[in-house]
Amino acid sequence: MGLWFTEKQTENFGITAKVNRTHHTEQTDFQKLDMVETAEWGNMLLLDDMVMTTEKDEFVYHEMVAHVPLFTHPNPKKVLVVGGGDGGVIREILKHPSVEKAVLVDIDGKVMEYSKKYLPTIAGKLSDPRVEVRVADGFVHIAESKKAYDVIMVDSTEPVGPAVNLFTKGFYAGIANALKDDGLFVAQTDNPWFKSDLIRQVFQDVAEIFPVTRLYTANIPTYPSGLWTFTLGSKIHDPLKVKEERFFDIETKYYTKDLHFASFVLPKFVKDLTDK
Ligand code: SAM
Repeated sequence: MGLWFTEKQTENFGITAKVNRTHHTEQTDFQKLDMVETAEWGNMLLLDDMVMTTEKDEFVYHEMVAHVPLFTHPNPKKVLVVGGGDGGVIREILKHPSVEKAVLVDIDGKVMEYSKKYLPTIAGKLSDPRVEVRVADGFVHIAESKKAYDVIMVDSTEPVGPAVNLFTKGFYAGIANALKDDGLFVAQTDNPWFKSDLIRQVFQDVAEIFPVTRLYTANIPTYPSGLWTFTLGSKIHDPLKVKEERFFDIETKYYTKDLHFASFVLPKFVKDLTDK
């Protein structure tokens, strides 16, 4: 029979994965943390019984959160990741030579600790000299930051527990203050099959604060419904107007220059969520 982990994505639907062994399990000060080895997806980080990242499909999410906003900005130097304690977004950010400083603010130090131990291909760059890791509430860090960042990426858990505030209009207004005059940000905004109200609300809130607001998608097999969305808010730079000469070769397995633009072409039922 063996051990199987099941994530209930809705009351009536979920995904299940065969587990070879449990590396670590604990209730931290903020959430339940499990690190397991699965037969199909390699090592997998779970928080509050939700899949956060797996060794086999993590590259999709991390490349799309990082490269779409970083190529949209003409010269990103100082970058912030809110959440992202597994280190995957940081790994991708460091592929951009213009980046001088990448700050990661995650509320739970245990995530970084066990990601370094059991997800070295994802967390391996957290100790890079260009990286500053802070264990703190991202909501507070944003409120205390003024015109500090070129690009901000919100790689948070879903809007439960410590991450509830990270999906509020107040937080997005704080991000606008924390960004420089030509700054932009992106946030993971869940899936359109089970969380359409959340996407509609977040997109509307961001569009009332940022002149350029866009939604893009990616296929992430271990995330609810497999179709994930990202909401981008920008003060000036438009991801659909990035010039040819801005792109340079980087090592990726999902993100490409063509996909950069194609990821904003939305199926009708998803596009409808962005309509006023
Ligand atoms: N990619 C995953 C997803 O889309 O579901 C998220 C991965 S990342 C591990 C999520 C991180 O957000 C966790 O490490 C969690 O500790 C962090 N987090 C949750 N609420 C936070 C807050 N208020 N401030 C900073 N980090 C927070």
